[in-house]
Amino acid sequence: MPDAGPGHGRRRGSGQGRLAAGHGRQRPGAGGGLRLTAADLVFNPAEAITDNTITCCLCGKAACSLTSRHLANHGINVEEYKYLCGYPSEQKLMSRNFEAKMRRNVQRAQQARKEKHRAENA
Ligand SMILES: [Zn+2]
Repeated sequence: MPDAGPGHGRRRGSGQGRLAAGHGRQRPGAGGGLRLTAADLVFNPAEAITDNTITCCLCGKAACSLTSRHLANHGINVEEYKYLCGYPSEQKLMSRNFEAKMRRNVQRAQQARKEKHRAENA
């Protein structure tokens, strides 16, 4: 790899674009450019979502919903997390009760809209 740049030692935070394949060494504290695999999961995705909590499979933390902000702490987004855990893309990252509550809110909003446009509703 020819290093054509002027040699000022400025480093960007994430080492994108440069693949550090070769040595099978993992840097524990390296922030960016981290590629997670299923081997990094500390919790079984199949058991992560229960009635009251969802457990983050990357750190084992349980909450009523798993936010994209939390996943950003792990350096991944929601889509990558779902892929990592084998969840379908329509999977909601929240507890079942929490999802039901959200769905009820959506349904209520939809119903209010339906009552406005009754013609469409048979
Ligand atoms: Zn986590």
